[in-house]
Amino acid sequence: MALYVHKYGGTSVGSVERIEGVAKKIKKFKDEGHDVVVAVSAMSGETNRLIELANAITDQPTPREMDVLVSTGEQVTIALLSMALNKLGVPARSYTGAQVKILTDSAHMKARIQDIDTNKIKGDLSEGRVVIVAGFQGVDGDGNITTLGRGGSDTTGVALAAALNADECHIYTDVDGVYTTDPRVVEKARRMDKITFEEMLEMASLGSKVLQIRSVEFAGKYKVPLRVLHSSKEGNGTLITIEDDESVEQPVISGIAFNRDEAKLTVLGVPDIPGVASKILGPVSAANIEVDMIVQNVAADKTTDFTFTVHRNDFVKTEAILREVAQSLGAREVSGAKDITKVSLVGVGMRSHAGVASKMFDVLAQENINIQIISTSEIKISVVIAEKYLELAVRALHTAFDLDDNDK
Ligand code: ADP
Ligand code: ASP
Ligand code: MG
Repeated sequence: MALYVHKYGGTSVGSVERIEGVAKKIKKFKDEGHDVVVAVSAMSGETNRLIELANAITDQPTPREMDVLVSTGEQVTIALLSMALNKLGVPARSYTGAQVKILTDSAHMKARIQDIDTNKIKGDLSEGRVVIVAGFQGVDGDGNITTLGRGGSDTTGVALAAALNADECHIYTDVDGVYTTDPRVVEKARRMDKITFEEMLEMASLGSKVLQIRSVEFAGKYKVPLRVLHSSKEGNGTLITIEDDESVEQPVISGIAFNRDEAKLTVLGVPDIPGVASKILGPVSAANIEVDMIVQNVAADKTTDFTFTVHRNDFVKTEAILREVAQSLGAREVSGAKDITKVSLVGVGMRSHAGVASKMFDVLAQENINIQIISTSEIKISVVIAEKYLELAVRALHTAFDLDDNDK
């Protein structure tokens, strides 16, 4: 008998029929004698709908009220799933994050889990019940409802698995595992049986939204065996392996991630003197805006062009900050672009192989795709290109790096 934590995403609980399908799946595990704790998302589209309601009232809703609002989606699905299980004769009980309780810090809309009280859950399990916990939400020390950031139900699932010392955490979604790249963009994407935790973390942070970044961090930190599976198809899915299996030769490139959420800003003609980078980026970080890639070039006239990327939602705010900074620095002008995308190759095998970057640049050149920014680390290479070339670039790279599933 094992203890499993299951997490079901929005599409998997997107209708009453699907919720009943999920209940049947859970019943199978119970019938085999296992204990099951479940984290569920809101029905697909519901969180977006709630955000739109808020935006129809104000473009600056207070984060505390946003959390009160968006956490309601998950309260609906936990109750419905619990009812569906009861209908099948499986005793079940639903809990909101605050009821459990899932204690978080007070950073509304991006809260971090600090502790999970497992008493109620263990009590229910010992009485044979399935426990269903609302994903994405928690409660801070003052009793305020908090949420964990978009896609946060994955983190709820993994955190529950860690707190309960579960045998495995299953993330059930609308794809049957982690692929070499988003299967919605590349038809020939290949499902991986296994991926190392390190690579999965890199894929997630570079834009593969199949798992929330924090859930992967959590799984690594607490050594939670994590598997991504399809919620209505059979199969073994993809196991996120905690340790690298050193006996197996690592492929140079495991996957390709991309992120359409970025925007690029440039301050042109900045005097090339010490302290410029900090004068430009200081006010940006003071405004709580995260900067991703940074490039600086020196021109022959001893001025520099300073370029960096931010989340697209922060574009307007950053541009306004830069206009002020540019004036005080005597820079020529500020320019920006939202129609960009970041494409990244990820692979632990890259460490021991030279020439990956030049091959990547070569492939993009052959497709006539201009590279705007490059950044590298030990296990990834990222480039920024025009968004309109995204599909073309990812497909060409997928083929060139031998990732295509040739049976498709
Ligand atoms: P859920 O609602 O179940 O949390 P998500 O939409 O958050 O589901 O995540 C699943 C989606 O992630 C898939 O439908 C797929 O389009 C996308 N995705 C992006 N990159 C990958 C990848 N490398 N492998 C599998 N799916 C990916
Ligand atoms: N419902 C939340 C969202 O859409 C959390 C999740 O689905 O994981 O972001
Ligand atoms: Mg998700």
